[in-house]
Amino acid sequence: MIPTPVPIQRIRFDITGVVQGVGFRPSVARLAQGQGLHGFVQNQAGVVRIEVEGHADALRAFETALQQLPPPCRIDHIEQLTLPPEGDRRFRIEDSTNPGAGIPTLLPDTVTCPECLAEMRDPLNRRYRYPFISCAVCGPRYSISEAQPFDRARTALGDFPMCDACAAEYRNSTDRRFHAQTITCPTCGPTLSLVTMTGKLLANRDKAIETAAARLRNGEIVGLKGLGGFQLLVDASNSDAVQRLRLRKRRPAKPLAVMVGSLDEASLHVALDSGAHTLLTDRAGAIVLLKRCGDAIAAEVAPGSPMLGVMLPSSGLHALLLDACETPLVVTSGNASGQPIAIDNEEAARDLAGIADCLLVHDRRITHRLDDSVVQLIAGKPQMLRRARGHVPLTMPFAGPRGMLACGAHQKNTVAVSLGGVAVMSQYNGDLDSVAAREQHGTASRELIGLLDAPPARVIVDANLDYASAMAGEALAATANAELVPVWHHLAHLHATASEHGVALPFTGFAWDGSGIGGGNVVRGGECFALDTNGARRVASLRQFPLPGGDRAAEEPRRAALGLLFALEGAAALEHPAIIAAFTRAERAALLTMLQGGVRCPASTSIGRLFDGVAFLLGVARECSFEGEAAMQLQFAAEAAMGAEPLPFGLARGELDWRPLLQALLEGIECGDAPATLAARFHATLAAMTVRVAQSQGLERVVLGGGCFQNRLLVELADQALRSAGFSVFWPQEVPANDGGLSFGQLAAAHMGHLVADEGPYD
Ligand SMILES: [Zn+2]
Ligand SMILES: [Zn+2]
Repeated sequence: MIPTPVPIQRIRFDITGVVQGVGFRPSVARLAQGQGLHGFVQNQAGVVRIEVEGHADALRAFETALQQLPPPCRIDHIEQLTLPPEGDRRFRIEDSTNPGAGIPTLLPDTVTCPECLAEMRDPLNRRYRYPFISCAVCGPRYSISEAQPFDRARTALGDFPMCDACAAEYRNSTDRRFHAQTITCPTCGPTLSLVTMTGKLLANRDKAIETAAARLRNGEIVGLKGLGGFQLLVDASNSDAVQRLRLRKRRPAKPLAVMVGSLDEASLHVALDSGAHTLLTDRAGAIVLLKRCGDAIAAEVAPGSPMLGVMLPSSGLHALLLDACETPLVVTSGNASGQPIAIDNEEAARDLAGIADCLLVHDRRITHRLDDSVVQLIAGKPQMLRRARGHVPLTMPFAGPRGMLACGAHQKNTVAVSLGGVAVMSQYNGDLDSVAAREQHGTASRELIGLLDAPPARVIVDANLDYASAMAGEALAATANAELVPVWHHLAHLHATASEHGVALPFTGFAWDGSGIGGGNVVRGGECFALDTNGARRVASLRQFPLPGGDRAAEEPRRAALGLLFALEGAAALEHPAIIAAFTRAERAALLTMLQGGVRCPASTSIGRLFDGVAFLLGVARECSFEGEAAMQLQFAAEAAMGAEPLPFGLARGELDWRPLLQALLEGIECGDAPATLAARFHATLAAMTVRVAQSQGLERVVLGGGCFQNRLLVELADQALRSAGFSVFWPQEVPANDGGLSFGQLAAAHMGHLVADEGPYD
């Protein structure tokens, strides 16, 4: 009997996920060849297309193996189609097609992988001590990419043609660098040099690393061209050097981060648990805020803070430099005060003159400015404080339609675009006070618009139309003939969290931060809303108090304290001992006139300023050299005294009354209660406020958003209190709680039609 011929089938797989620039195509080729299947794999804009033909059981085995490819590959979705066989005789990796419509696969930079680092330290390897080592799964991506999809010709490495040895690895399907777009070696790759601030060459290649390390050990400040931009480095164990960096960078107190060579080394400076391990070794390579221990790091690195930001080497270059220095290094953004991070050598020479002593540079261009990401752990879960290198431009699930651009806030600016099913948030553009930062905002906006195939239909801006981001949005909307959609600041904060977690309406939301526009001539920042399909309602707000001097109150906690005291007890506030100590007699007279006449004393509902005022009265913070400094000090004080009971407060007619709380704190101070205990009770009271308001609404889901929820203790206490009261609680994790997450929230708020809120009804 003649056996029936086994039919040949052909199947097409269109795959989305993290499947480009991560060695996906070579892995697919190996799987197909292993099953004796023929066909091709090809990067297309937004998807990887595979067509394979062969016997049914081989195809099934191929599909199963495909689903099980290890990270960093991540398959989100597979679209399958059966096709007539075409009689292919082999399996091939085809060139990428030109980008078209759809969702582009955008790749974040990844830190150098352990295999590459091991090769770099192996004297027998041809990439021994080669700082730009990378492979199919690691290395620069977004920071060097010029267009989609990710292929060498469309990156800054297009400037560096592969040598024969690299080309052979690139073609060899059993090599770690098979089809690696970033493959280079000492023969064909970028070169490193150490130069003076005026561009005079000091040393090249390996010698450049040795010389830079010697200078760092000597206390000098080195500007290093990192993955997403320049960084300023200094010996973290050298107090004088760290102080010099602070002085030159005009950054008196804001904590600096430290880079160490390994996990073992990190454990000498910070407490490591499994969550910290995971974050530190994550391929994104973010700065992780952890509890510090030991005293090898100079106190000036993070003055007054029990925490320390730590990261592991992000590239071979960083690893070699740390090896040579044999000391942890402070690593901070290479920018002049208020300017975006420098990315090219000329920019660095100009912006870092007067800050850095020399520059360690190379000739690989940076195409996207990317600051280092910063993440902390709350209740064992990561919370992003700055979402940048390693995370941008990964897409995030987003329920709204394609074609919306959100322009973000004024501070910690990011922009975002909706692509239908997903959204992309830009890199961190910083505060938009400088011309350069506003230009960066424009560049980021244009780039995101470029991901759309048509101009945006809606441009979303903050309701504060004086924000530079809102003005830029107005201009963009006019050019694109798009609808301009202003959104209340605090509704955007809530939607950022809700959208991140896919929280369904209705929910009660707490948007607590420093200041934002959202109804009336009031500096808002203590808002509670109920959101449902009919719209948004403000259900409670912090009782108003005046901010003498307006914006200056954000830098001077004594002003917030005075405003609170004045609202509590009128003119007697000026006789409070802490106020007498903080202002001269003449200042107090002038402030009293201002307060009584309501001159330059805007009304405020800001929880951020409540934190400042209380921190001042408890004596834990005198000034804010950076936003939120006083609130951080209050948190640190409170964390030293856990398990405190809440103090009294009021809730009536939509007003959260802080006066009983402040009264109790003042009495506590008078009785000599420890500031740490009072700080802890203050935090517990805020958590109790969320429960009381949530209970008044009776909605099962509660959403937290806004900069106050970067406060680890506040989040933990509120989360705990709300959950024990039976609520489901959602707080910011992937999307920053601060204004860095606002653009994403603006998209979601606009999509849900929550642009403004009604008032009440209260009680
Ligand atoms: Zn690698
Ligand atoms: Zn080469």
